[in-house]
Amino acid sequence: METKVRFAPSPTGKLHIGGLRTALYNYLYAKKVDGKIILRIEDTDQTRKIENSVENLISISNIINIEFDEGPTLNNDKSYFQSERLDIYNKYIKYLIKHRYAYPCFCTSKRLDLIRQKQASNKETIKYDRHCLKLDSEIVKQKMAVESYVFRMKIPSDEEIVFYDMVRDKISINCMELDDQILIKSDGYPTYHFANVIDDHLMGVTHVMRGEEWLPSTPKHVILYDFFDWRLPKFIHLPLLLNHDRTKLSKRQGDVAVEDYLKKGFLPDAIINFVALLGWNPKNEKEFFTLEELTKEFSIKNIQKSGAIFDIKKLEWMNSHYLKIKDVNEIAKLAEPFFLNKNMDISNVEKFLLIINHVKQRVNTLAEMPKEAKRFYEELDFSNEQLNFLNKNDPQKLLKAILIKLKNEPNCDGNKFKNISMDVGEKYNLKGKDLFHPLRIALYGSPDGPDIPIIYSILEKNEIINRLSRVINE
Ligand code: GLU
Repeated sequence: METKVRFAPSPTGKLHIGGLRTALYNYLYAKKVDGKIILRIEDTDQTRKIENSVENLISISNIINIEFDEGPTLNNDKSYFQSERLDIYNKYIKYLIKHRYAYPCFCTSKRLDLIRQKQASNKETIKYDRHCLKLDSEIVKQKMAVESYVFRMKIPSDEEIVFYDMVRDKISINCMELDDQILIKSDGYPTYHFANVIDDHLMGVTHVMRGEEWLPSTPKHVILYDFFDWRLPKFIHLPLLLNHDRTKLSKRQGDVAVEDYLKKGFLPDAIINFVALLGWNPKNEKEFFTLEELTKEFSIKNIQKSGAIFDIKKLEWMNSHYLKIKDVNEIAKLAEPFFLNKNMDISNVEKFLLIINHVKQRVNTLAEMPKEAKRFYEELDFSNEQLNFLNKNDPQKLLKAILIKLKNEPNCDGNKFKNISMDVGEKYNLKGKDLFHPLRIALYGSPDGPDIPIIYSILEKNEIINRLSRVINE
């Protein structure tokens, strides 16, 4: 049987890091075993729906390079939206009612609140008291004609539900602890639990891989599979994502949306690599993986049980690695919007590439690049201390002589300029710090900075002459 997995997000906002991890692991597994991955939009909760969630998800998947084999593309294939499949769920709820696996419930939210309060004060399991299960069938018929109602599943009484999770092994729970879950809501839409099981079966899903927060719901799903006499898929529940203090990863402690990390200038490759390691361990020392390598090395057996800590410092470190190793043209393309956003004139492509090549070695994110590159684009802003230093005798005579020699050098380049500077330095017996500090401060605004030939090649002769002239007192 062909392996089929699915990513089944609810369109309730931007794609989160946790959602990306679920999508990624499903994708990796599908690729590894030559199976298929479905994207299914679980939009049955009309109250939580947020405009553009699906578009956001699809555009992020494209940026990150995760492709789905089935599902809504940007032209919206409706059959993978649960809200377009209500007829299907209706058909299956009828089957459950007919076999007395489901029943209508007319209880008001006021009554349900009262039951809950009573159970809580008696320290009992909070669950529906099955009031409507005892109603006479004639009464049910009458009520259905005039009242609003839901359909609940009838959990078997006092049975042990046992199933296997590929990460957690055997899991067992007694039915006494389970509530008669609502399957169809009063608005006619199915709940997540019902639609999820029906669709996983109908779409041929063989492996259900999702976040651990869904583990407590799984026994109810197992019972539904049993009601329909359907074969169970394999379950894989992924460990929770945690903040540093081991609380559940949340917006309160930083960004959780993938888009926010892209906006901050993290590279798709770094995000993928980082997210892949949030709960999966290759069991060797290797830390850097391309998406392709991940599809080869990923395995369910190396998914951990314990929560995975989201360490932003590690993401920054990974990102700086990818910035260093990736092609300058590629980085320049990704960096462009960050410069334009700061209104920097990057129209000189050759200069921009030289700058990117330099700054990509020195920053953690694309967003840090404009600041790092600023000294090449804008007039330098010297501190008083720097001005005092440059106004001293030695720096003045040194810079003046370098300027004169440079002006007289018709075909200068970075290395030649460095040699000129060293020759002048030698003449005045200035070398090392005494030579390069004044020069770097004059040209770059800081004693530590790029090598002189790099500064020269980026700024070019005219700008070097301008910058030297600016600090020389006539
Ligand atoms: N719609 C659920 C979610 O938003 C999917 C859970 C599952 O994969 O079963 O996470």
